[in-house]
Amino acid sequence: MNENVIALDGPAGSGKSTVARRIAEKIGYNYLDTGAFYRAVTLYLHRLFQGSSNAGTFEDWVKTSEAKNSITDAHILCEFSSGNENRIFLNGEDVSLAIRTPEITREIKHIANQRIYRDFVNKELHSLAKLHKLIMDGRDIGTEVFPDARFKFFLTASSKIRAERRTLQLKEQGIEADQDEIEREIFLRDKSDTEREIAPLYQAKDAILIDTDILSKNSVISKILEILDR
Ligand code: C5P
Repeated sequence: MNENVIALDGPAGSGKSTVARRIAEKIGYNYLDTGAFYRAVTLYLHRLFQGSSNAGTFEDWVKTSEAKNSITDAHILCEFSSGNENRIFLNGEDVSLAIRTPEITREIKHIANQRIYRDFVNKELHSLAKLHKLIMDGRDIGTEVFPDARFKFFLTASSKIRAERRTLQLKEQGIEADQDEIEREIFLRDKSDTEREIAPLYQAKDAILIDTDILSKNSVISKILEILDR
C-alpha cells in the first residue's frame, strides 16, 4: 500500500479541488492538482505548435514524433504554498493562470488521450509521491496511477449542479458566464474523459463514492475526515 497517497477522482466541477485542499490542511498532507500537469503539458505543446509552421491541426500534430520528442524538454514543477494553492511552473515560468484559459481547457483532450503524455505526467506524480504525503485530485489516480493508494474517493454530482457551481465560482471572480454554455462544456469534457481508450475516468472498485449533489461541501469534508480517521 502506498501510505503517501490519498486519491480523489471524479468529473470536472464535482468539488474535488476545494475538498482536497481543505482535507490536506486538516491532516497535514500537501494537495496536488494533477489536472494542472495535463494543462501545463497542453500549454507547452500548444505554444510549440503555434510557433511552428505546421499547417495541420493541433490534434494531429500532437501525435507526430516531433511533438512527442519535444516533451522531454518540458520541465514542470509544482510548488506547494500555504493554503494549498498549487503554483505551476513550466520551464521556470509561473503558468498557474495561463493553464486555465478556455482555449487550453478545450485542447487538453488531445493530450489526455495519448499514452506518451500520460506516462510523462505519471512519472512526475510518482516522483512527488516519493517525497511528500499527497492528496491528489484527478481522473485516474485511484485506477491507474496509484491503484495502491491508502484511500480512494470518487466524487460525483449531476452536470446541472456542477455547472451551477462553476458559474457561481466564476461570478465570484468577476467573470460573467453563461450556465447553459458551461453545462455543455462539462458534458463534452465528461464525454472525452470517460470515453477515451487510455486511462478513462471511472470509479475504482475499492473507491468510496461520495455524491456531492446531496451533501454540502462541509459535510463532504467531514465524511472524508471521518473515514480517514477510522
Ligand atoms: O482537473 P482539471 O479539470 O483541471 O483537469 C483538466 C483535464 O485534464 C481533465 O478534463 C482531463 O482530461 C485531464 N486529466 C486527466 N487525468 C488526470 C487529471 C486531469 O486526464 N489525472
